[in-house]
Amino acid sequence: MKNRTLAILKPDCTRKQLVGKVISHIQGAGFKILGLKMVRLNNESAKGFYEVHKERPFFNDLIKYMTSGPCVPIVLEKENAVEEFRRLIGATDPAKADEGTIRKLYAENIQENIVHGSDSDENAEKEIAHFFSRKELLEINGWK
Ligand code: ATP
Ligand code: MG
Repeated sequence: MKNRTLAILKPDCTRKQLVGKVISHIQGAGFKILGLKMVRLNNESAKGFYEVHKERPFFNDLIKYMTSGPCVPIVLEKENAVEEFRRLIGATDPAKADEGTIRKLYAENIQENIVHGSDSDENAEKEIAHFFSRKELLEINGWK
């Protein structure tokens, strides 16, 4: 079944001028882009997005990193989008990521790891709603 996932090109991706390369990699793997924008997260928005990690020791650093520059959230569609996209990006720690994955190719370390991918269909829908209104996605896909 075709479903959706949310990718975010993180601040290290925009800072290193890798937006084009990473999007090209994603499209080359057969993902269709349903929505895309560039945003600067503030503290509140970043904390809300990563709320599940609020008790983790790296939480404050994660918020600092995610608010340090522009991010590019992207709504993607494909068969088994969530699972396929996590396979494409590789393990959280780039040192442990498979060869050819986006994190293996471009990421620096376990924090500055270039890209986010949703971890379940349910979270994908919540995360998409964090950045995109339903109306916006309908309008840009010509279904109005
Ligand atoms: P994401 O949710 O961004 O796709 P993920 O699902 O692979 O990444 P999570 O466990 O959800 O990994 O962690 C969220 C983010 O927090 C990671 O992508 C990374 O930027 C940061 N992070 C995770 N673990 C650590 C750690 N041990 N030290 C520092 N930062 C970490
Ligand atoms: Mg995660």
